[in-house]
Parts: sequence; structure tokens; C-alpha cells
Amino acid sequence: MEPREPRPARHPESLMMGYGYVPEWSEGAIKPPLFLTSTFVFKSAEDGEAYFRQAYGLDPVDPKRPMGLIYSRLNNPVLEILEDRLRVWEDADLALSFASGMAAISTTILALCRPGDQIVYTIPVYGGTDYFFEHIAPSLELEAIPVEAGPGLAERVRSLPLRRPRILYVETPANPTTTMTDLAEAARLAGELQYEAPAESRNDVAPVAPDECLLVVDNTFLGPVWQQPIRHGAHLSLYSATKFIGGHSDLIAGAVLGRRDLVERVKVFRTILGSISEPFTAWLMLRSLETLKIRMAAQQENAIALARFLVDHPAVSRVHFPGLLDPSSAEGAIFRRQCSGPGSLIAFEMKDPEDKAAAFRVLNRLKLAHLAVSLGGTETLVEHPAAMTHSDVSPEHQLRAGITPGMIRVSCGIEHIDDLIADFRQALDPEA
Ligand SMILES: *Cc1c(COP(=O)(O)O)cnc(C)c1O
Repeated sequence: MEPREPRPARHPESLMMGYGYVPEWSEGAIKPPLFLTSTFVFKSAEDGEAYFRQAYGLDPVDPKRPMGLIYSRLNNPVLEILEDRLRVWEDADLALSFASGMAAISTTILALCRPGDQIVYTIPVYGGTDYFFEHIAPSLELEAIPVEAGPGLAERVRSLPLRRPRILYVETPANPTTTMTDLAEAARLAGELQYEAPAESRNDVAPVAPDECLLVVDNTFLGPVWQQPIRHGAHLSLYSATKFIGGHSDLIAGAVLGRRDLVERVKVFRTILGSISEPFTAWLMLRSLETLKIRMAAQQENAIALARFLVDHPAVSRVHFPGLLDPSSAEGAIFRRQCSGPGSLIAFEMKDPEDKAAAFRVLNRLKLAHLAVSLGGTETLVEHPAAMTHSDVSPEHQLRAGITPGMIRVSCGIEHIDDLIADFRQALDPEA
């Protein structure tokens, strides 16, 4: 691939159609072709050697002599174009794409932590992430400590017994309750926490950021359009690209964006763990990025209207949606400071929040809204967090995180709003 030009001063929406690709490279094709190839031919043995030294982190990446293509577990033209475009939204130094959101999360943790390190993470958190911290981290001698998401995070974290905090892991808005955590406060907190890499380590890859506690943010729910954690001081912003970035419920992928030295380190681990996304998925993501903003805007408009309908419904006790936050509340203030829109995820609780049967009845009656996990696609999806996405979260964490048996999560799609509201109306009051 050619050396990257400096990014033109255009808005992300304008860059999504062509940035990082020149039609002359491919017979004038307006869209980048898909390179279904496992390996790439080197021009010379010297080039092959130089590329490998950079890929394995033995030599620093030289921006003037960028690493050439090697093998599709390391890089591929479509992936390089995609990664250039992904970093645009948050103005990040670099971006990487992964085989899934969980691949992005687990590869990042493995790349940055050493045995004995501590990870402080907000709850509620995506079910798979919770499982990783609760059940896999201990076997790697990583101590993951849950702390409630939301206003006042710094105070709660300061009261924890911290020895060697390496990562402050925040998901905001949190899945499924949409609880807001203050990213600027979290960034200050990470800056305050003392981390000192152990002198002796069984992990012999050159240390990265040896004296920093890193703020890592899962930005799947609002990003990259309505919230950009990097602008608020996060070191890394992680995504399940399966959700809004993919946007059509037809692919599984993930992404990591952020500071150059950290992303380069994660990239070496991605190479060795083999957690990269494959070219066709990357190509689908490129297509999806072109409509990301308009999809997210249309979904959000529907969510605002649906949330208003739900709030007024007698069968519903509580609606969790950033757009309904009282601006004078602590969470409302966080929302105003760090988000440019409320997004399209709503969680609502039945009149009796303990009434699982009532929630199941509504889920079974909805017709236009599909009963399925996942979110961020063009069609409306509903699910039951306690029994589905968060069923592997311990009852204790469910309780602490406010996930009740009567809670339903909705991901709004782009259907006509009148049809959506009619569907929820018939499901909530079958007598009508
Ligand atoms: C779905 C999701 C993930 C996991 O992503 P996959 O692509 O399914 O691996 C992580 N975080 C959040 C917030 C999610 O919604």
C-alpha cells in the first residue's frame, strides 16, 4: 500500500466513501476490490525481512517506509483501508479490526496486562466481557474487580484495595441499563492511579506504557457517531463492530482505536492470536461505514419516539434511555457533556420489575420487533437481558447492576415509527 497522506480536513461523513483508497489502484473501480488471498509476493528478500521486523515489533513502525503486505493474518488491502476509515470518527492515531467484539476486547487485555495486574471494570457490562473478567482473567492471574457504573465512579474506585491497577475498563452507556459513566472523570482517575510494571515478568514482549493505568472504553452503544471516548481522554476505544458499524445484522466483527504505541502493541498480539477480521467481513464494514451516520440518526429518531410512548404506558414502570435523563441529574449532566445524541437502545421494566412472566408475554407478542439478541442493526430487536444476554452474569452482579426480571431491552431499527409504536401497543395491552 502507498504511504498514507495526511487526512484531508473534511468531516467523517464525507470521508467514509473514499478516504484511504484511490480508484487508479484498481482499474478505476469506485469501490475497493476484495483481495481474497492468503499471502502476498515480496519485491525482494530485503523487503520481506523489513516487513517482518515491523510486524513482530522488532523494529519500530517507520511511517516513511510503511510495512508492506505479508499475509492476511497480519494485513490485507481491504483491512488497511477499513482501519484508516475507522480511526477517522474519533481522530485516533490508529485503528485495528478484529474477528469479533470479544476478539478485540480479549486481545487488548492480553496485550496490555501481565500476571498480577488488576483490572477495574464497571458493571453492568456486556455479558461476554463479564465472563472474561470473572472466569478467564483469574486463570491468567489477572484480578478483575467490578465496580458500579454511573456518577461517583472515582469515589468508588478510590475505596478499592488497589496494588497494581493496569486497566480501568468502562462501558458507557452500560449494556443493558444505559447507565452513564463520566469519561473525563474516568480519565483523570486513571491518571491518578499508580501502576508500576513488575521488573520480573514472564511476558517478555517489550513493555508498553510501563507506568500508566490505561482507560479502555467499550464504545459500542453510542459510537462512533454520538460519543468519542478518545476525545475525553480514553487511551483506547473498543467496539463490537457487529452492532452499529456493521449495522445490518449480517456480520461479526470488532475494532480497537487509540494511541499509537498501545494499538501497535495490540496489533502484535492480534497477529499471533489470529484474531483479525477476514477480508470479506472488512469489505462489508467498508460498505456499512458509508451509511453509518444516517442509519444511526434514523434509529435514534425512532428510539426517541418509542421511549416517549413507553414512558406514558401504564404497563411500564421505568424506561432507561439517555434521551429521557433529567438534565439537572448527575447522569443527565454526563450525557450532555460527552454525548451528541441518546442513541437507539432502550431498556424498560414492566409495572412490576420482578415480573418475568409479564416481560416474556410482551416479548412473545411483538411481531414487527424480532425477538433476538444483538443490536444496532436496521431492524428492531428485543430481548430479555436477565435470561439471555446477561444470563451468565451472577445473580449478585445482576442485582447490583439493576438488571431486573421484568426488564426488556430494545434496539430500534429504521422501520416506520407508526408501525413500531403500533407493535409495542398491541404487545403491551392486548385488550386494545
Ligand atoms: C455485542 C457486544 C460485545 C461483543 O461483541 P461481539 O461482536 O459479539 O463479539 C461487546 N460489547 C458490547 C457492548 C456489545 O454489545
